Amino acid sequence: MSVVDEKLQDIYDEVLRRNPGETEFHQAVREVLDSLGAVVAKNPQYAEAAVIGRLCEPERQIIFKVAWVDDSGTVQINRGFRVEFNSALGPYKGGLRFHPSVNLGIVKFLGFEQIFKNSLTGMPIGGGKGGSDFDPKGRSEAEVMRFCQAFMTELYRHIGEYTDVPAGDIGVGGREVGYLFGQYKRITNRYESGVLTGKGLSWGGSQVRTEATGYGLVFFTDEVLRARGDSFEGKQVVVSGSGNVAIYAIEKVHQLGGTVVACSDSAGYVVDRDGLDLQLIKEIKLGRRGRISEYVDLKGGTATRYAKEGSIWEVPCDIALPSATQNELNAADATSLIANGCTIVAEGANMPCTPGGIRRLTEAGVVFAPGKAANAGGVATSALEMQQNASRDSWTFEHTEERLANIMRGIHDRCMETADEYGVPGSYLIGANIAGFTRAADAMLAQGII
Ligand code: NDP
Repeated sequence: MSVVDEKLQDIYDEVLRRNPGETEFHQAVREVLDSLGAVVAKNPQYAEAAVIGRLCEPERQIIFKVAWVDDSGTVQINRGFRVEFNSALGPYKGGLRFHPSVNLGIVKFLGFEQIFKNSLTGMPIGGGKGGSDFDPKGRSEAEVMRFCQAFMTELYRHIGEYTDVPAGDIGVGGREVGYLFGQYKRITNRYESGVLTGKGLSWGGSQVRTEATGYGLVFFTDEVLRARGDSFEGKQVVVSGSGNVAIYAIEKVHQLGGTVVACSDSAGYVVDRDGLDLQLIKEIKLGRRGRISEYVDLKGGTATRYAKEGSIWEVPCDIALPSATQNELNAADATSLIANGCTIVAEGANMPCTPGGIRRLTEAGVVFAPGKAANAGGVATSALEMQQNASRDSWTFEHTEERLANIMRGIHDRCMETADEYGVPGSYLIGANIAGFTRAADAMLAQGII
């Protein structure tokens, strides 16, 4: 497949050659390059300084062994990753993912996306990502703690408030950040709050960080609706996943007057035509770390059902918020959504829509908001956490939420203005890619060939 611009095609071919087998990374790079033709034509200085080629090569890639002992006394060996992708705008910033599917290509796709997302927030943060192929599912508290300690025993030498600041992602929430921070403190003998974000409220965390990605996603979607003279009032919404992003997206949709009728986990999805009972979902997923299938038995009634087969995207809705994982919404899913009258798809997860899915949605006139814009509220609030840590301050929930809402409004407007400037009005995808790119690219130009 060819990328529109010839120079960009050469860069893409080089990415394919140097990173064999890393399909998710190829996909993420390609999606950005597809948007940049007009920018390179207008700004030859980017090509002269090889800015795009340099952006596609991580500044540093760290892969390490994580050996630990499980509850039965058996030695377990996992692999740890941290890809420090780009530091033009600030210290590397991005989460850690613990999931058996994690490999270098996945971490690189996430780190690459993070550069543009962080740039779009307007805040002083570079892009990075990390994780491990460790599977926390079915592990005891003690095993999770020992794994986190073993992981940090290597990671600590690579991170720091001014270097690289990890946070959570799939499989890494408040519990894991706690164990990671404890081990960092033990090794370094420093209470360096700004080294990790997503911390607990009593030990350096920020109000709203837990809710931020889901809330931010809904604030962004609310801006999309507002730009069309509409609102969440009375809208039927489907949210995939039932983790951190999904749960707080559901919460904010309900607060704004919409009804979420379905959510999922990796085993299946639940539908509740009366609107999901979020308290029950929190009890199942956050309280007991259980399965979403339990919802139907616990809720009872005739409005609920659980499906192991098929796709959550077959459930009729006005707005779809894919918030589980990459490539979970393909062209066939897009067709179902379109047939059922869905008008907006906003990505809560990173790259949940396949290229075919995005094409089908946009061709049918469905508004598509890419993750690097729509889910940037999490990292933006992490940057607010870093600000509070640096000034040894802590803000109220209301103040922090207001900051988040303003940041999401700013990202929305930046995407729209950029799309207008480049002659693609209404394209959040191209607007996000170009606006995210130019801020990082200009900083790279200013800092010379490094
Ligand atoms: P969680 O681990 O809290 O939740 C993930 C959810 O997605 C779970 O319901 C999980 O189901 C489901 N899921 C995971 N893998 C798969 C899969 N292969 N197929 C189907 N379902 C799956 O993670 P988060 O909510 O934090 O992250 C969700 C997405 O949002 C990710 O793409 C992440 O990169 C992105 N994101 C997260 C941010 C954050 O602040 N947390 C910030 C920005 C983006 P199960 O329980 O069965 O595994």
